[in-house]
Amino acid sequence: MKHFRLAYLEVPDVRIGDSAIEPGIVIKDGAADFFIQTLAYPPAPTLRDWLGTQVPFFFDASPGAPLLELRPDRAIINSDIISAAFYLLSGWQEYYVNARDQHGRFPYAASVQKQYGFVTLPVVNYYFDVLKTAIEHVTGQRIRPRAWVAGAPFATFISHDIDNLRSAWKGPAKAALQRGHLLDFGKLLGRHLTQPDAWDNLEAVAAATAAYGARSTFFVLPEHRPGADGTPNADYVLSPSLKNRFSALQAQGCELGLHGSIGTATDAERLNQEVGKVLDGPSGLRFHYLRWEPRLTPALVDAIGFEYDSTLGFAEHFGFRHSYCLPFFPFNFVTEAAHHFLEIPLNVMDATLHHPSYLNLRPEEVLPALRPMLAEIEQFGGVATVLWHNENFDPANTKNGPQQFAELMSYLQQRGTAFLTGAEICQAFRR
Ligand SMILES: [Zn+2]
Repeated sequence: MKHFRLAYLEVPDVRIGDSAIEPGIVIKDGAADFFIQTLAYPPAPTLRDWLGTQVPFFFDASPGAPLLELRPDRAIINSDIISAAFYLLSGWQEYYVNARDQHGRFPYAASVQKQYGFVTLPVVNYYFDVLKTAIEHVTGQRIRPRAWVAGAPFATFISHDIDNLRSAWKGPAKAALQRGHLLDFGKLLGRHLTQPDAWDNLEAVAAATAAYGARSTFFVLPEHRPGADGTPNADYVLSPSLKNRFSALQAQGCELGLHGSIGTATDAERLNQEVGKVLDGPSGLRFHYLRWEPRLTPALVDAIGFEYDSTLGFAEHFGFRHSYCLPFFPFNFVTEAAHHFLEIPLNVMDATLHHPSYLNLRPEEVLPALRPMLAEIEQFGGVATVLWHNENFDPANTKNGPQQFAELMSYLQQRGTAFLTGAEICQAFRR
C-alpha cells in the first residue's frame, strides 16, 4: 500500500479487507499459506484482460469470477492482487530459488517473467490500476498518477557504467594480429601510445546526452585489478586527473555514482572503501556486471546508507525484473519491513540488445523492440532507466552504438519524458 500511494497523487482513505461485511473494497485472499513457506514459485497465473491487455494474475483463487465487481457501496476484486504484487515486488522468487549464473546473478531463465512471458509488462502497475479503479468507484474521487516535472507523463534516467576508457584499440589490434597484418597492428599500437583512446570519451558522452536536454549519471568503477574470480574490473586507474574530469562533469550537472567492483556486492567493507574513492558520501550505486545476491546485497546497500541502487534488471532481457515500472523500496526478508534505499530498476542495457549471448538484435530492430516497453512505462507514469556504456558511444559501433542511442533519445524526447538523474528521481520519491 505504501507503493500504491507513491504511484498516485492523493489517494483517499478507504477500507480494504478480505470480507464483504462492511462498505469498502474487498480483495479475495488467494495465497493460502504460500508466504509462510519457502517455495520460490507460486501456482501458474490466470490470464485476465485489463486495459485491453492480457495480464497474468497470480494467486487467483476464483478464475471463473469477474476480476472486478462494482456494487453501490463496495468493490470486490476477485483475484488476490495484494499477494501477487507482494510476490513480484519483493523479489520472492530470486530470494528463495538457488539458481545463479556464472556471475552469481539470478538468471532470467529461472524467472516467472520468462516462464509465463511477461518480462516487458509491468504487471504490478496493472494490479494497482485495478485497485485504483475500485477506490475511485467506492469514493467517487478520481485518482491521478504521480506527477513528474513540468507535467511530463513519465521520467527517464540515463546512466553510463564506466568500465573502459582505454581499450578501444584492442579489438582492431587483435584482429590485425590474427590476420597477420603487422603493419596495421603497428599503426594501431602507435596510435594507442600517442593519442587518446576512442573510449576515453566522457565529455562527448555527456554532450551526446545533453543534446536531448538530459544529464548523464556516470557510475565510476574505482577498482582496476580483476575480481578474485578473474572477471575484469576497470581498464583505467582513477587518477587525480581523471577525478578532476569527473568533477568537471559534475559541475556541469552530471551525477556521479559508484560502480561497485566484482566482489563488493557481498562485502560491505570493500564496498564502503570504494564509496570513499568516488563520492563525498554514499548516494547512487550500480554493481559491475549487475552482480547482486538477493540474500545478502540489499542489507549491505542499506548498511552503507546509499540513497538508491539501480542494478536490478535482467542482463539477458530488457523489461521489468520486479514487474514494476516505478522506483520501489525493496523488501527486507529478515526484518519483514522495507529497506531504506530506493531501487530505481534498470530497464534496458545496451549490451542486452546486441551481445551474441543475449538478444542479438539488428541495429534497425533496437528501437522497435523497446517501444512497447517504453509505452508501458509512459502509460503508468513510470521511470525508464537506460544504461548505455561510454564505449558504445564510439562511432565504430554500428550495432548498439551512438546511432541507436540517438534514436532512443529522440523517441523519448518526442514522447515528452522528463530526463532526470538518479538523485533527482530519489528526491521526487522521498518528498
Ligand atoms: Zn560494469
